Amino acid sequence: MPRQLFVTTALPYANGKFHIGHIMEYIQADIWVRHQRMQGNAVDFVCADDAHGAPIMIAAEKAGKTPQQFVADIAAGRKPYLDGFHIAFDNWHSTDAPENHALAQQIYRDLRDNPQGSLIETRTIEQFFDPEKNMFLPDRFIKGECPRCHAKDQYGDNCEVCGAVYAPTDLIEPYSALSGAKPVLRSSEHFFFKLSDPRCVEFLQRWTQDGRLQSEVANKVREWFSVRKNPDGSTSEGLGDWDISRDAPYFGIEIPDAPGKYFYVWLDAPIGYLASLKNLLERRGQDYEAYMADPALEQYHFIGKDIVTFHTLFWPATLHFSGRKTPDNIFVHGFLTVNNGEKMSKSRGTGLDPLKYLSLDMNPEWLRYYLAAKLNGRNEDVDFNAEDFMARVNSDLIGKFVNIASRAAGFVHKHFDGRLAGLAEGAAGDVHAQLLAQVRASSEPLQKRYEERNTLQAVMEVMRLADLVNGYWNEQQPWGLPKKAAAEPDAAAAHMRTLHRVSSTTLEAFRVLTVYLTPILPALSAQVEVFLKAPCGHWSDADRPLGEGHTIAPYQHLMQRVDAKQLDALFEPPATAAPAPALPGGEAIAPTIGIDDFAKVDLRIAKIVGCEAVEGSTKLLRLTLDVGEATTRNVFSGIASVYKPEQLVGKLTVMVANLAPRKMKFGVSEGMVLAASHADEKATPGIYVLEPFTGAQAGMRVR
Ligand SMILES: [Zn+2]
Repeated sequence: MPRQLFVTTALPYANGKFHIGHIMEYIQADIWVRHQRMQGNAVDFVCADDAHGAPIMIAAEKAGKTPQQFVADIAAGRKPYLDGFHIAFDNWHSTDAPENHALAQQIYRDLRDNPQGSLIETRTIEQFFDPEKNMFLPDRFIKGECPRCHAKDQYGDNCEVCGAVYAPTDLIEPYSALSGAKPVLRSSEHFFFKLSDPRCVEFLQRWTQDGRLQSEVANKVREWFSVRKNPDGSTSEGLGDWDISRDAPYFGIEIPDAPGKYFYVWLDAPIGYLASLKNLLERRGQDYEAYMADPALEQYHFIGKDIVTFHTLFWPATLHFSGRKTPDNIFVHGFLTVNNGEKMSKSRGTGLDPLKYLSLDMNPEWLRYYLAAKLNGRNEDVDFNAEDFMARVNSDLIGKFVNIASRAAGFVHKHFDGRLAGLAEGAAGDVHAQLLAQVRASSEPLQKRYEERNTLQAVMEVMRLADLVNGYWNEQQPWGLPKKAAAEPDAAAAHMRTLHRVSSTTLEAFRVLTVYLTPILPALSAQVEVFLKAPCGHWSDADRPLGEGHTIAPYQHLMQRVDAKQLDALFEPPATAAPAPALPGGEAIAPTIGIDDFAKVDLRIAKIVGCEAVEGSTKLLRLTLDVGEATTRNVFSGIASVYKPEQLVGKLTVMVANLAPRKMKFGVSEGMVLAASHADEKATPGIYVLEPFTGAQAGMRVR
């Protein structure tokens, strides 16, 4: 039975660009998601911008923008990173979206109105107020000494050193990060989630300690349940209640029936996972409630170790006591350090700039491979080391794996017309069949490694197999066989048969290894599919040998080596006035494809023979297109904001004619019309439908 999985990464805070720590998490999750899909499982993989909170409100004010505009501008810059590193989210949404407002308010009501007793309580608390700025200070703008481990300069809500979660008033020697002033206490009514409620404690002890969490994470969480000593000498249960409200002014979601009160950003941020999923499902015409009600649905969140408290205590409790499904697991990773340097946390990020990496023409799959080779599925820090990176990419990935293909393909083309020998021939115990059997035997253990997110072991295993293939090649010495055949006419046919067999076996082994690495190297895998004219995108492709006489395409160079100069440039401190990377039309040019990839897209000249508004949609127009077929096509296009139907009827345009039909709310769309727009449509509005030069006729192919 295929599994149904709902997978997220942590939502990045929308006050800055991605740093390499984000990219590591996305790559780890993307590899896992691709692995699941290769097994035939259905995955919905979503993320969103974490848009709310005082830091964004204050940053927007500084930038002279509304918070909404500020967040939209950050969101517009996300795509080059995600596309650049082949991170294939199904949806990217925002916690400020209407779905999230509605969900957060409903979840709050369900917690408040819990039939077994409310989980929400109001209390008047003393809160820090900045007398110079004349506002209550958000947690992130109060700094001081951690009350638990006494680390200096920690934020008001949690300690990045020891992971403690506390109230800002617990900080020792607090100061306002906005003005530097010593904050004064003022009273205000706040809303609390009663995490100390015995029902909550009992539920969370079970949920966090039932073996689902990584053992190192479960052990850490266990400490938080223990009895703690208060400063006044009294003791209390480990779990303190959680303050979920903030006073206006605040950029966030209003608390129902509580004017001037907003949800603390950490209440609505994880709900953003559900909102992004809901948005995706509704765009597909699927029912969110029915989807979530499926008992077989599995829900997983990839996160960094700095936000474990929110995801192992608050989030499951919020879901459980509002009558919702709780996550099946939380997958925690450590921080990424660069060249033994500074840690890459959510709030600080320096060292290795992901866009700079791409702008230096460094292959995104080098980084995917390198990080996969370092991540073992445990909550441990990972270091990016430039020398290690170069060695692993050049010696292992390219030297051991990629080069297998170029060696064998040459002989197949030179002597055998690009055709492979049969791989099933010969005794089962012969050395050729043995090699393939060894390579195939790793299929199951590798699936297990991927499932456990232990890509370190998966990569090691594939490199062990690559060593076997290279050892076989060197032992067989196929390069000497054409000479031998020429020198020994009687044995010539046998020598050439061996050459054919060895080259074909080697290419088959290479193909199986490619399947094994496809979750990590999706672009390389797609190139290999073109080269070997065989699929590599499903795990089961590894089990289906290429048949006798299967022809392969001429070998084309698959991957460049890392040049030490690129790494030097990557870590060179930015010049004082470094020019921003060119982003034509607001986005980076997509990764290079071959002509074969382009040929897959069948573009045709289409005549717009009919066009009408779509009732119930302000975005869509319904186009009737003639592409020279027996019948016309029905295509929906999101251009209603810029074109009126009468402007389009009778015109020629270009359509994608072989796009799979897509069922939409208003009917089936049988293709797509090409139109140009800027990546940031808000800042640079306009959509422009393509129109060919005079003389083009409906049905002509665009190439
Ligand atoms: Zn601490």
